[in-house]
Amino acid sequence: MGVVENLDLIQKQIARAAQAAGRSNAEVQLVAVSKVQPEERIEEALAAGQRLFGENRVQEAQQRWGSFSEGRRVGYADLKLHLIGPLQTNKAADAVALFDVIETVDREKLARILAKEMKKQERHLPCFIQVNTGDEPQKAGVSVADLPAFLEFCRDECGLNIIGLMCIPPFDEDPAAHFELLRTQAHALGLKELSMGMSGDYEQAIGAGATYVRVGTGVFGSRDY
Ligand SMILES: *Cc1c(COP(=O)(O)O)cnc(C)c1O
Repeated sequence: MGVVENLDLIQKQIARAAQAAGRSNAEVQLVAVSKVQPEERIEEALAAGQRLFGENRVQEAQQRWGSFSEGRRVGYADLKLHLIGPLQTNKAADAVALFDVIETVDREKLARILAKEMKKQERHLPCFIQVNTGDEPQKAGVSVADLPAFLEFCRDECGLNIIGLMCIPPFDEDPAAHFELLRTQAHALGLKELSMGMSGDYEQAIGAGATYVRVGTGVFGSRDY
């Protein structure tokens, strides 16, 4: 199947999953994860009306969207880019300049630098805190235990606009418990947005309250690294 058919199918599945959960599908946004995908697949998605994309590396995203950003943003004024991968502090300025939402705020040093750059560039981007729900040592994200204090730090010390939580459940576990944990935490902290669910489990994530699902291969096909 091509990108257009994939998008159509996924939107139908999103609507179905939302309905099954007693939710409106207007509450769920599809972030089409375009990392590593060839340009022609991105063009197909744009032509089909997809306007929200996710990238996990700043430099790659700059090459794809930045070099075209002027023209593309004029042509597609409603284009939105989410950063969904780990952010190094030395790339924070570039990230603030390019992205519309940063989903991966996960440590104090990064929060401080992002806040400083947003002030400097006068781009006050909505952000998510990434939560390491599985406490995996190799994975980015704050622990659940540290989350309340980190949220306070991001808001009160840095003035960041934190709108929600994001997680990537452990690869080898049932994601249900992780989605539920993220939902419970967001609810307790008064955060509205939940970025969770990928190609294999986005319907399940919607059942658990996801407001953004990040789907890559399901939209574009497999990535050729
Ligand atoms: C690549 C990526 C996705 C998309 O994964 P698929 O399995 O291709 O849908 C989602 N979230 C993050 C953080 C990613 O890096």
